Amino acid sequence: MKIVVLGAGVVGVTAAYYLQKDGHEVTVVDRQDGAGLETSFANGGQISPSQAYPWAAPEVPFLMLKWLGRNDAPLLYRMRLDPRLWIWSLRFLANCTPGNFMANTVKNLRMSLYSRSLLPEIRLQTGIEYDFLEKGILQIYRNQKELDKAAKFNDALHKLGCDHQVLDADGVRALEPAYDSSPDKIIGGIYTEADESGDAFKFSQELAKYTTGQGVEFRYGEIIKSLNKAGAKIASVTTDKGTIEADTFIMSMGSYSPLFLRPLGINAPIQPVKGYSITVPTAGHNGAPTVSLTDNDHKLVFSRVGERMRVAGTAEFNGYDTEMNDGRVTSLRDLAQKLFPNAGDYEQTENWTGLRPMTPDGVPIIGSTPYENLFMNTGHGTLGWTMCASSGQLTADLVAGRTPSVDISDVGLERF
Ligand SMILES: Cc1cc2nc3c(=O)[nH]c(=O)nc-3n(C[C@H](O)[C@H](O)[C@H](O)COP(=O)(O)OP(=O)(O)OC[C@H]3O[C@@H](n4cnc5c(N)ncnc54)[C@H](O)[C@@H]3O)c2cc1C
Repeated sequence: MKIVVLGAGVVGVTAAYYLQKDGHEVTVVDRQDGAGLETSFANGGQISPSQAYPWAAPEVPFLMLKWLGRNDAPLLYRMRLDPRLWIWSLRFLANCTPGNFMANTVKNLRMSLYSRSLLPEIRLQTGIEYDFLEKGILQIYRNQKELDKAAKFNDALHKLGCDHQVLDADGVRALEPAYDSSPDKIIGGIYTEADESGDAFKFSQELAKYTTGQGVEFRYGEIIKSLNKAGAKIASVTTDKGTIEADTFIMSMGSYSPLFLRPLGINAPIQPVKGYSITVPTAGHNGAPTVSLTDNDHKLVFSRVGERMRVAGTAEFNGYDTEMNDGRVTSLRDLAQKLFPNAGDYEQTENWTGLRPMTPDGVPIIGSTPYENLFMNTGHGTLGWTMCASSGQLTADLVAGRTPSVDISDVGLERF
């Protein structure tokens, strides 16, 4: 079957890998000059089933009110005259109930655990290198009440298959010696040993290279203009370079997906949510963590990617604006330097911003569409790197008409 994957982010490239393995003739189209150059470029690097919970959580409406008007807040919500944003926001708030939060966590955890289990197989089959570390993810706490609360929540995740250990401050320092030279007053942490970290950009590039060797065609530097329907099917995609016909199409254009689905009468509630990262060179320094860290107080993650430390976080609802806000990256850098002063050369940081493709319930959209040959593999929000392997495998299962290894009946478009 001839299949066109729309978008060469980490999600599209991984889907192409699985589709090619099934024997399809696969073409991937992307406007960039290579794979993984937009939101998959410099993310937090975490493969984190332990944090598969959505942003729409019971405490979030309160936090949003608390942060309102604060320019350095972890979440900035810029009100716009955009009814789609308002409807999305109401849906987001409706998902903040304890019941919906847990139901959405269960969906994400199922997909994330499956994804994490597939990664070693990809590494084995392809031999790709992407600075991955199998050193787990540590969530750190500075307040006993918060740690106890998190431990209780993690017990619930444990029952769903995500293991963890609760550590005291000594346990954290024994696990991550970077805390020996840090002035940070941590009191403990929650450690998930089986979680991983790695460079999603390198993974995308290397997997694209590998699949090219297997016969996948990557059409880079080609701007998708529209999808063209013919009755109940999609007949072709029009780009700035011409028209590409295929039997099947996979939508993996991240935050831009809804713009191309809307003319087809498909409503995919995905909002771009801007985040930032800094990447600090660590060569010649010995104070950077090697275990990937999540700092819930500051809403930041730290991952070691080769001889670099990635620090990522913050959320801005500001449409498709991708401008670098210098204040945001300066705050990231100052905070990282305060917590890990010996981590690296903070004068040489690389700054980055990207748009998370967020659904209101924080669960990606994987499944069929009203068009029999168009499939959704998008809307991965904060977890696209974590879930790229399962999403790719599940997309290939859908196309093949195979029964998937995990239930996907509740992650499709129908839920909206
Ligand atoms: C600050 C930050 C930290 C993050 N940290 C983590 C983390 O630690 N772990 C995790 O799992 N996830 C993390 N994420 C989320 C993760 O990065 C995303 O979910 C993931 O990159 C989405 O991948 P994607 O392939 O769907 O989208 P993208 O990577 O954006 O790919 C979409 C592709 O579509 C292409 N495209 C769009 N429009 C067109 C067009 N008209 N024509 C042609 N091509 C087009 C783009 O060029 C792009 O390559 C983070 C995100 C941010 C912003």
